Amino acid sequence: MDLKENLTAVTQAQFGRLPDACTDRQLYHALLALTQKLAADRPAPQGGRKLYYFSAEFLMGKLLSNNLLALGLFEETRSLLEDMGRSLAAIEECEPEPSLGNGGLGRLAACFLDSIAALDLPGDGVGLNYHYGLFRQKFACRKQQEQPDPWIEPESWLLDTGRRYTVPFGGFELEAVLYDMAVPGANGGTANRLHLFDVPDPADPPANGIDFDKRDVAHCLTSFLYPDDSDRDGQLLRVYQQYFMVSAGAQMILDELAERGFGPGDLGDRVAIQINDTHPSMVIPELIRLLTAGGMSFDDAAAQVEKSCAYTNHTILAEALEKWPLEYIQTVAPQLVPIIQELDRRARQRSGDSRVAILDEWGRVHMAHMDIHFGHSVNGVAALHTEILKNSELKPFYDLYPEKFNNKTNGVTFRRWLQACDPALSAWITDRIGDGWKKDAAELEKLLPCADDAGSLAGLLEVKQHNKRRLQRMLARRQGVEVDENSIFDIQVKRLHEYKRQQMNALWVIFKYLEIKSGRRPARPITVLFGAKAAPAYTMAKHIIHLILCLQALTESDPEVRPWLRVVMVENYNVSWAEALIPACDISEQISLASKEASGTSNMKFMANGAVTLGTMDGANVEIAELVGPENIYTFGASSDEVIGLYAGGGYHPLEHYHRPGVEYLVDFLISPELMSIGDPGVLTALWRDMKHKDWFMALLDVESYIARKEQALAEYEDRTAWARKMLVNIAKSGYFSSDRTIAQYNDEIWRLR
Ligand SMILES: *Cc1c(COP(=O)(O)O)cnc(C)c1O
Repeated sequence: MDLKENLTAVTQAQFGRLPDACTDRQLYHALLALTQKLAADRPAPQGGRKLYYFSAEFLMGKLLSNNLLALGLFEETRSLLEDMGRSLAAIEECEPEPSLGNGGLGRLAACFLDSIAALDLPGDGVGLNYHYGLFRQKFACRKQQEQPDPWIEPESWLLDTGRRYTVPFGGFELEAVLYDMAVPGANGGTANRLHLFDVPDPADPPANGIDFDKRDVAHCLTSFLYPDDSDRDGQLLRVYQQYFMVSAGAQMILDELAERGFGPGDLGDRVAIQINDTHPSMVIPELIRLLTAGGMSFDDAAAQVEKSCAYTNHTILAEALEKWPLEYIQTVAPQLVPIIQELDRRARQRSGDSRVAILDEWGRVHMAHMDIHFGHSVNGVAALHTEILKNSELKPFYDLYPEKFNNKTNGVTFRRWLQACDPALSAWITDRIGDGWKKDAAELEKLLPCADDAGSLAGLLEVKQHNKRRLQRMLARRQGVEVDENSIFDIQVKRLHEYKRQQMNALWVIFKYLEIKSGRRPARPITVLFGAKAAPAYTMAKHIIHLILCLQALTESDPEVRPWLRVVMVENYNVSWAEALIPACDISEQISLASKEASGTSNMKFMANGAVTLGTMDGANVEIAELVGPENIYTFGASSDEVIGLYAGGGYHPLEHYHRPGVEYLVDFLISPELMSIGDPGVLTALWRDMKHKDWFMALLDVESYIARKEQALAEYEDRTAWARKMLVNIAKSGYFSSDRTIAQYNDEIWRLR
């Protein structure tokens, strides 16, 4: 294919002009049309068994570069545009980013689709087409505000398939409109699909923030991901969303099975279904309902479904394991109630332990329990997480079904998270070891001998500097702040949650601020970057954002401190921000309370881009530490066993830690005149009180060892060659965290697609 000829044909047809004369936006639309057509022309990969990956979230990010890369056109397009004096990056700025996810779980689903296609496996995603995404974050008066995030333009990656399904709700029916996005495989010459269901007549964006009439299910079902569920209408709407997704998805699966020439009795052999967290769990009773309605016995239907379905657990935070009142299901999908009751009866027959029942004494349905009893596999997402599931959280289930439990350590796609987001580092790697690593990330290990090559190490530091300048320009353009490219970039970007402990990082900022105020300057300036959205109803998380924004204002306005310490919180952290921040990072903050972060995936992205981790022994940090060795990571803090022991024995008393001399003055700074005059005194006081008296995620337990370790990392950064060696080892050992490896394991051990 001649790229230039093809592009010219499109711009001529669409805009009546040559590519040179097009605006960036026109070029974006021309490239969109071209790549979309090339992807759509690709056949679906073939196989005896087909996978459907069900997920409430797919945090896809922008797709132009990704799809060009998969189609093998990335480099060619970049140089063609460069010859025209244009830049692919500038053109991609015109692409709206679909915000169909919340954080790691949704981004994992997107990485998985990329890897499934790259491995040429037949597997599609199934989800919902939220029109206004999660929300767009704005800062006003140092607080988070939420706005709708409309991302669907008349021309987008969505293709109307013409397929429609009818979803039977209690008292009314709703048509499900099926849109597809092509997911081209990087190596296969084939394309899978992401299936997104939508309502036929979606509501306009709400006039006022993200508030809308949650009872208007027919129009608002696909307005937002995770609409506010602090009241009954909001909770019901979530159940409507879930049932809509799985009912339409289940009907589509049975249709496709028939189109492939199989009958319902072949479901278990021909279809694999992965249930990503509990949001899609109702696919189990829904498939049983559809199969029995077609004449199959309940026993046979349950057996078929069990052979197909597998469940991924993403969290041990109890509040995140969904339990819906059966009464809600009676309202939303009454036809499922007798099926769920029968599944509960069967579960109780298998075990007399009431902890593994599906229906509890309050009439709530434990969605995960349904998945574990009536699916064939349960997996955790990092080695430590899976052990915790087996030994504590899901122990009664593990005793009952040891053979169902397995680990699949998460991964990320190196095509997006190294090749596309860090072209400079990719070129540096390829110069040293050739480009085999692009197909097999394990080949990055070939970099290890370069640890003794001064030229390579100097080159690596130059790449990092280049990426820091790139981020510096982006921060200037988007946020109006000028950061110092020669400062250390210390970055914590992830959803805001108390267990992730952004508040502990804020205590370090206070520590460093007070050090500088008392004349102890660091060896080199430090820039602390944050990015995080808080769930709109999560008060404490919003308080922490307020604290960070107050610290930002405080350090920015202090001429004594500003040259040495900067705090920048980026607005509306999303995939595009991540792609600019991660390649520029020196120190990767992965400081969750041990046992609480199931895996984490940004830790892997940072590692692959040559950042050094400062982290607790939690989630996949444990595996990173094993791979790189103690001299190439900074770990600290209580172990997961210690933390689990403290929770079990009620042995954590924050006041005891607060009264330590190294801690009290940091916590009390929250209510200092300096900070109270900048921020909202009510919020800062509430935060201060919570930290002293509750501190549910034990920031005060680890804060001293955190500060000590961070000081060590900052000091060791000054030996630039030794630091470059740490960067190199991290990159070289990161191949294990390619989602291609993760997906190969899912396929070998759970899906068996071929
Ligand atoms: C990778 C990623 C995440 C997950 O980050 P964690 O630190 O693992 O929680 C969240 N949001 C975005 C935009 C990401 O790219």
